Amino acid sequence: MSSVERHAELVRELRDANYRYYVLDEPVLSDIEYDLRLRELQELEETYPELVTPDSPTRTVGSAIITDFTTVRHLERMQSLDNAMDFAELDVWAERLEAGIGGVPAGGYLCELKIDGLAIALTYEKGELVRGVTRGDGVQGEDVTNNIKTIASIPTRLAGDDVPDLVEIRGEVFMTVETFKKLNERLAAEGETPFRNPRNTASGALRQKDPRVTRQRPLDMIVHGYGAWEGGPRVPASQSETYELFQAWGLPVSGLYRVVPDVAGVKEYIAHYGEHRHDPAYEIDGVVVKVNDRATQRRLGSTSRAPRWAIAFKYPPEEVRTRLLDIKVGVGRTGRITPWGLMEPAWVGGSEVERATLHNAFEVVRKGVMIGDTVVLRKAGDVIPEIVGPVVELRDGGEREFQMPVHCPECHTELAYAKEGDKDIRCPNTRFCPGQLRERIYFMASRRVLDIRALGYVGATALTQPLEPLDAPVKDEGDLFHLTVEQLLPIRSMVLDAESGTPKIDPRTGEEKVVTFFANANGSPKKVVESLMAQLEEIKTKPLWRWLVALSIRHVGPRAAQDLAREMRSFDRIFSATEEELTAVDGVGPTIARSIIDWWQVDWHREIVRKWREAGVRLEDADAEDSPRPLAGLSIVVTGSLEGFSRDSAKEAIQSLGGRAAGSVSKKTSFVVVGENAGSKHDKAVELGVPVLDEAGFRVLLEQGPDVARGVTLNGE
Ligand code: NAD
Repeated sequence: MSSVERHAELVRELRDANYRYYVLDEPVLSDIEYDLRLRELQELEETYPELVTPDSPTRTVGSAIITDFTTVRHLERMQSLDNAMDFAELDVWAERLEAGIGGVPAGGYLCELKIDGLAIALTYEKGELVRGVTRGDGVQGEDVTNNIKTIASIPTRLAGDDVPDLVEIRGEVFMTVETFKKLNERLAAEGETPFRNPRNTASGALRQKDPRVTRQRPLDMIVHGYGAWEGGPRVPASQSETYELFQAWGLPVSGLYRVVPDVAGVKEYIAHYGEHRHDPAYEIDGVVVKVNDRATQRRLGSTSRAPRWAIAFKYPPEEVRTRLLDIKVGVGRTGRITPWGLMEPAWVGGSEVERATLHNAFEVVRKGVMIGDTVVLRKAGDVIPEIVGPVVELRDGGEREFQMPVHCPECHTELAYAKEGDKDIRCPNTRFCPGQLRERIYFMASRRVLDIRALGYVGATALTQPLEPLDAPVKDEGDLFHLTVEQLLPIRSMVLDAESGTPKIDPRTGEEKVVTFFANANGSPKKVVESLMAQLEEIKTKPLWRWLVALSIRHVGPRAAQDLAREMRSFDRIFSATEEELTAVDGVGPTIARSIIDWWQVDWHREIVRKWREAGVRLEDADAEDSPRPLAGLSIVVTGSLEGFSRDSAKEAIQSLGGRAAGSVSKKTSFVVVGENAGSKHDKAVELGVPVLDEAGFRVLLEQGPDVARGVTLNGE
């Protein structure tokens, strides 16, 4: 693979990982895998500077925001941090820095723990908390003020009279390990699916529409910086004095930071917490080192992504040894059969792990693990547990090889590859396999799809796999909207583990756990029944793209669904479109288009949509007819970095007005918008005589349309 191809591949992978991590809360890579890819990209860009674009993941922060919250611009850009993976890299950073300022920084280095939480900016006006916003893409984030106000440690008023007229306080919101454990114990006792890890839980809690739900998942915060600061007392001369001032204002400051004179001191601090990683009440993933003196910080400045005066030292992922008791397989919502390892429970990366996915049969072979092996288990980034490989020297000959089954573990249909060369083998019984249906219903109810909070894994199991003699009230996605209370009350069902789909054992009886999910012991409906019925009603007006994702059509994830919804705006148009019409939508390629067309050919699929429609689900976007589309038919390329738009927000702005945000310039391009450091695309536009706009011109285009914009081009075209 050439460097250019590898570059493109890394950019794609990192963008996808960002989206999954920040927007979906469902990372596909471990943090270390992510960091190594980012590192590789940085090195490629250092060798081939012509590959650098302003929107490269090496230059940007976070991900585009796609949520139902209002987006708010930060008063000052929120940045990320560069990182060091070992002491050698820390030395390189410090040497370069000290060479730049002519010695060890006066005032030393401030070391503090890197909290594995979510970056939040709090705005105080005249001491009053007015806003809490997520970092988002660094330029704008989501307004989560009401949820922030449920956090007891955040003062709604700063203490004392001498406070700035306006100040943006930055910090990390997290859930303590203790709270996380208690919450999960409670969920387990109620037969609910437990949360995966504290970071993920905190992120979910902060993005709740209803602050009462956030309140039930207690969060905490520690502040570690500031953005805008206007009026009132001067900014203190050092980071540590700033923390003292914050503390005096009643803000939550960590008690665990230290100021040390030099890099040797930094290393001691890092080594100490490497040994005591689980001592703090919250999860940490490293140490942040900051130059303490403010004037030196200013002198060193920042890159577009991170300050030069600070670095994050990341601890390596934790590894432990445990025994691989068995390799089992589970069926997913698209029929994919996934082998996973069942292990002797081991405590690693802040939680107890006994299952880890092995992805597919090829992966089992690649890792070389056998049932009965002692394996190295890593919980990287404290998110996804991974079996690294066997400890071969501990084998005693009793180990056995894993055989991929030939039949579906749930419906016993013979498994098959969808097409030659596929890595994944699938259960072809899409319609009747109870496992696939359960997974689809669970997926559909999840936060990132229709957000039916009353329906978790236990509920999805109950509706699709009630114990005999009852027949399942939900046989496809359509039935969900035609349920009656009478159908629900008698249901008894097993409690399955959400990760593996296997029955949970009741520790008291030693038998498979069975629950009556919808009814109390006396047969009266539990509260969940009312909530479920109400939520099924409420969601009927959710945006179109969510309904499209809810169909579990292969290759149609939130991104493709949003692109389709934005341009086509109704199920009718999407499902009657030809392949050409579908691929004309920016972001939709032939694989997605074919998948949609094939899906619609199946009669029981059309039946699902019919049932939804019959139940009153709105399968079009509300403003389909009347929203203005002044950019319809225009193809617009944005290149270089704009002040007021991230790459994604510029794209969204174009698409929301009916335009097409294109990637390359051709004669057919209607406008090229150039920001700072625009490169070859600008030249090409000039060469082809395509109208070129600067950022102000772009705003004219968005606000006043193409005719007015043609009057303000840079090249007078
Ligand atoms: P980062 O986590 O490496 O560091 C920057 C952030 O650290 C800051 O924004 C701040 O919010 C936080 N922070 C915590 N404690 C702090 C303290 N005491 N002082 C200052 N800042 C502190 O960078 P990032 O941009 O937030 O995220 C990138 C990282 O997230 C990656 O390196 C990776 O570990 C992870 N990530 C993983 C995936 C994945 O797929 N697994 C995807 C995207 C990001």
